[in-house]
Amino acid sequence: MDSNRDQIEEIRSRLDVVDIVGKYVQLKQAGKNFLGLCPFHTEKTPSFIVSPELQRYKCFGCGASGDIFNFVQNIEHIDFPETLEKLAKEAGVILQKKEINSKYARLEEINKKAAIFFYKELLNPLNKDALQYVLERGITKESIKNFGIGYASDGSKLLSFIQKDTKYSKEELIDSGIFTLKEGKVRSKFYKRIMFPIRSSSGKVIAFTGRVLPGNDFGPKYMNSPETYIYHKKENLYGQYESRQDIRREDLVIFCEGTTDVISAHQIGVKNIVAPLGTALTKEQVEKVSKLSKNILFLFDSDNAGQQALERAFFISQQLDLTTYAATTAPYKDIDELIVKDPKKFKTLISKRIDTFTYLLTENLKDKDLNNLSEYKKFLNWIERMLKNERNRATFSFYVEKVRQIAKINVYDKRLSKGVDPGLNSSHNKATNKEAWAILFTKLILFLENIEFPKNYDLKYFEGEETYDVLKYVKKNKGATRADILNHFENTDLRKIIEDMIFSFSNLQSSIEELDSLYRTIVHDYYARKEREINVKISIAEATGKQKESEKLLKEYQNLTEEKKKYEQNSRL
Ligand SMILES: [Zn+2]
Repeated sequence: MDSNRDQIEEIRSRLDVVDIVGKYVQLKQAGKNFLGLCPFHTEKTPSFIVSPELQRYKCFGCGASGDIFNFVQNIEHIDFPETLEKLAKEAGVILQKKEINSKYARLEEINKKAAIFFYKELLNPLNKDALQYVLERGITKESIKNFGIGYASDGSKLLSFIQKDTKYSKEELIDSGIFTLKEGKVRSKFYKRIMFPIRSSSGKVIAFTGRVLPGNDFGPKYMNSPETYIYHKKENLYGQYESRQDIRREDLVIFCEGTTDVISAHQIGVKNIVAPLGTALTKEQVEKVSKLSKNILFLFDSDNAGQQALERAFFISQQLDLTTYAATTAPYKDIDELIVKDPKKFKTLISKRIDTFTYLLTENLKDKDLNNLSEYKKFLNWIERMLKNERNRATFSFYVEKVRQIAKINVYDKRLSKGVDPGLNSSHNKATNKEAWAILFTKLILFLENIEFPKNYDLKYFEGEETYDVLKYVKKNKGATRADILNHFENTDLRKIIEDMIFSFSNLQSSIEELDSLYRTIVHDYYARKEREINVKISIAEATGKQKESEKLLKEYQNLTEEKKKYEQNSRL
């Protein structure tokens, strides 16, 4: 483990983030940092910043951030071991292979060999019934090749094929997910099934979905590989590898329900499509594919379960701030049927897609009578549920507008909007100035020629601010560097804030004059705020006849005025 970390550090120290990123993105120097158009989302004005000081990048548009390893991994769409290999080569570092990697590699090998075996078996004349069945189901020979579809006939032949050149242990065979132990013997899990290999994002076969041939009553209709070291079904999607290029090109990913839907869609030229693997859609799956495109079209089956899945998908995407659309295969059962009966309609569904919220809204309204009190209440509750977690202002107001247009209800009306308003116009706006000033102040401190908290300044004006601890640290540790500060706050929430500050600072250096003027504003605001606070309390105490309380507050007010006077005298010196 440690030798691996050392090697990563070695590679990091030999390479420069500006060089690595510069191979993919045109960068311009801006102060201490470099600026360019983000390669991870489409933009016209650059918001992608590379910091040589931190050896990291960050996009203020889409939030992508990381070091050289994250960058290469995401831009090349390869996994971590591959990234490590690539960058090691570039840095001239020879990697010591880790044992764990080779364990994974061997499990992948077994799956790869099985895929080859199944594929050959499907084309073997002895199994012509299986091939015939596949072709009758409308899967073309080209798809068989592209998706590596195969046939699991006889388990014992599979085992000897896999063991031919390399001997794998019993444990490895079982860990591969293809075999199981029965009465002490290793046996294939799959028997008389059409086999669909599941490939990782980088194209490695990591698991299978096996569909029974008619006449085989053994096991469920679809049988998947179990969870293994290399296959986690809640993180993977069928078609994630086969569809990756088209998803990026079209900047849209279509989610459908089944393996064969993906294949049928590919056959009519719609190749930006994926399906979850026998589970309900997970956040991990959506997150993974959202690296290729932030636009999603959910095309679930027309039954009730499909509609429920859609609501769930909506909530997941809402958390990830993605733009989503929805469509239904109705009147057809699923995509397979739709494509066979009306392929043109399938393509129209994609091009004329409507956003998921509007889709769900119209579905929800279909059989509702909003003049009926109980239905009206139910409807408002539903809207609340849909909107309460929406954090994106633009999206939120779009939804509100849709409800107004379609349902003729103004949910932004204060009397209705309890729970709907996601704090967009709540009281914390008042505090924004104060917080923004404290952040800017901290930023200016971090970019002084010599980082220090000036002696004549008082920390108390920053109490309760997010960056208070940073200022306190700077006050204690005169001459600390930005790297020291960042290290000190490693593993805390402040680290990200400090990092953002370093990324977003565009001048080379801040001046003490700038800092002084901001400090004066902050102090001035502090006293004005405190005075107002005490004044309000005094009025309340007086109005409720609390004489003693009122006198105490008056004393407090006098002290504050005194303190303010002292500050003003000192600052004039
Ligand atoms: Zn971006």
